[in-house]
Amino acid sequence: MSAVVGRFAPSPSGRLHLGNLACSLLAWLSAKHEGGRIVLRIEDLDAERCPRKYADLLEEDLAWLGLYWDEGGSHGGSHGPYYQSECADIYTASYEKLAAQGLVYPCFCSRAQLHAASAPHTSDGNVIYPGTCRSLTPAEVAEKRKAKAPAYRLKVPDEVVSFTDGCMGPHSENLLRDCGDFYLRRADGVFAYQLAVVVDDARMGVTEVVRGADLLSSTARQLYLYRLLGLKAPRFAHCPLLLAPDGRRLSKRDGDQSLENLRARYTAAEIVGKLAYAYGLQEEPAPRTPESLTADFSWKKVPKHDICLPEDLF
Ligand code: GLU
Repeated sequence: MSAVVGRFAPSPSGRLHLGNLACSLLAWLSAKHEGGRIVLRIEDLDAERCPRKYADLLEEDLAWLGLYWDEGGSHGGSHGPYYQSECADIYTASYEKLAAQGLVYPCFCSRAQLHAASAPHTSDGNVIYPGTCRSLTPAEVAEKRKAKAPAYRLKVPDEVVSFTDGCMGPHSENLLRDCGDFYLRRADGVFAYQLAVVVDDARMGVTEVVRGADLLSSTARQLYLYRLLGLKAPRFAHCPLLLAPDGRRLSKRDGDQSLENLRARYTAAEIVGKLAYAYGLQEEPAPRTPESLTADFSWKKVPKHDICLPEDLF
């Protein structure tokens, strides 16, 4: 069995759009180029925002495009399906390991308070936590608990974490200054993405994480969690984001670029071929199957900057 294990880790809060799809294609090609496997994990921690119907459609869309996975998913054979919404016990065990190291503290700050404090933001758009609740006394915590349930944050050190990204090259973040103490658990008990993603990638044996460049700045936080939990970190490759022809970021609200509309207009091979062209994997937007792109795949061909969809491509 090959050592490379890649993954699809979509959050089914809507139908897939071209940007999600481009990352899935690159994740698939990068693993398959090395004869690897792909695990599908549905990141529906926020079960209300991620109804099962979207998870099912997402599987259907990936399979329609020829991006087959080897494990997980509702038709995933002997392993899976993996739905994060069903794994709270697993995250609890890791959360308790961190708490036992004295690194977790309750935070009572509301989003509105943090915005009012005009704290700076991380490059992925979260507030860099100013540490307001970091050193509350037990008595203060008990008092505040009477008014509201806290969320829980992980204390981070003033330390630089560096890594070499498979697509973007060398990257560094100072945990305290660029990221800040981050959420492990929300006040309603739902575990945070950063914790769940690390625990899941490690237990599923993932060796290569390919995802959008909007998550590049989460990677230092995740590497820190791997270290604290004594887990082996995978390698990372963050793919450039796809922008609409007018330069806006694509989102699940962009009906035109959603698979629902695209499937009515193009074949799977046409969509894959056009994306491969936009990402520098072929010179013409000719129809291609994912398999036919595997042998020649190389991260060296993929640009490091955001990609603006050419006006007439779709
Ligand atoms: N679930 C995240 C998303 O759909 C991706 C998380 C990851 O790849 O680490 O945006």
